[in-house]
Amino acid sequence: MTQKILEVVQTTILKEKPDPSTLEFGKHFSDHMFMMDYTSEEGWHQPRVVPYQSLTLEPAAMVFHYGQTVFEGLKAYRSSNGDIRLFRPEENFKRLNQSCDRLSIPKVNEEAMLEYLKEFVKLDKDWIPKEKGMSLYIRPFIISTEATLDVSPSRAYTLMIILSPVGSFYKGGIDPVSIFVENEYTRAAPGGTGNAKTAGNYSGAYKAQERASSHKKDQVLWLDGVEKKYVEEVGSMNVFFKINDEIHTPALNGSILEGITRKSVIELLESEGMSVCERSISIDEVIAANENGSLQEMFGTGTAAVISPVGRLEYKGRDYEINNGKMGETASWLHETLVGIQTGALDDPFGWSIEVNG
Ligand SMILES: *Cc1c(COP(=O)(O)O)cnc(C)c1O
Repeated sequence: MTQKILEVVQTTILKEKPDPSTLEFGKHFSDHMFMMDYTSEEGWHQPRVVPYQSLTLEPAAMVFHYGQTVFEGLKAYRSSNGDIRLFRPEENFKRLNQSCDRLSIPKVNEEAMLEYLKEFVKLDKDWIPKEKGMSLYIRPFIISTEATLDVSPSRAYTLMIILSPVGSFYKGGIDPVSIFVENEYTRAAPGGTGNAKTAGNYSGAYKAQERASSHKKDQVLWLDGVEKKYVEEVGSMNVFFKINDEIHTPALNGSILEGITRKSVIELLESEGMSVCERSISIDEVIAANENGSLQEMFGTGTAAVISPVGRLEYKGRDYEINNGKMGETASWLHETLVGIQTGALDDPFGWSIEVNG
């Protein structure tokens, strides 16, 4: 596309890039940010890229009070020959609109958003790390900006996209994570907002994460909000089990976030002739399968870590080791294959990896 689709105000002072060897997740941001506004009169309008900067909002801006906000997370990768690639970005804008629908936020034009994102990433392409395992994390989000304390959907919004270079999730090889099965707090309930990427789901999870940390576990495994019996997800990852050589994952039930990595893992396994059983999986079944040796692997899936094996699990005061605390062959294969597709190192028969010419 040669036609200019975006108004761009370029920064005059380029920031210093962070040292890739000490990079922490989400602490550094690129030179620019994307913005677009919504009013009930004009709809979504004025897509633009401006220097990364602070915002000015009234204290009464609705986002501060009632949390009417949604976000997304995806990554741009640099392939070994220098191409810039996005992994299934159209899925992220589709999900953004699903979250918008749940939060009564006006939807965006998904095709236009993808074109804006490509232009924006091209402009800040020097922020995509070249080092192996590193990428540029892309955070689109929408906030409600109308200044009123009225409890009702805002009539004004701002959509922004910010870019943050991120290191390899795995510093020295892939270390399986340990998880704490949360038996008191719940993340989401039927009919709630669990399948939307919205702020409140995450702030409401901190308490459980604190408890997991105090038990020296990395992450929380959430159970269903009604019976606290069925496995839902791990932190901000979907979860898979390999039991008796079959792959199982909790079925999407409205309170589980529909991960794009989850979907890709299922499609990838099925393309290899392996079926994935989507169903209700009780924590008792998982524990029993681990005790009798039929649980071969457990792993989480999400944009940040791609595939994260689970090596240890604490439930009701007991610790269980899974697969001797090691990463299993299915998790390894999935990680290698997905990262290969994302970075352009492997063939992409699915057309998931979109090249951004820059
Ligand atoms: C984002 C997210 C996931 C993973 O989704 P991906 O699209 O694979 O990154 C899973 N669970 C929760 C709660 C999330 O917020």
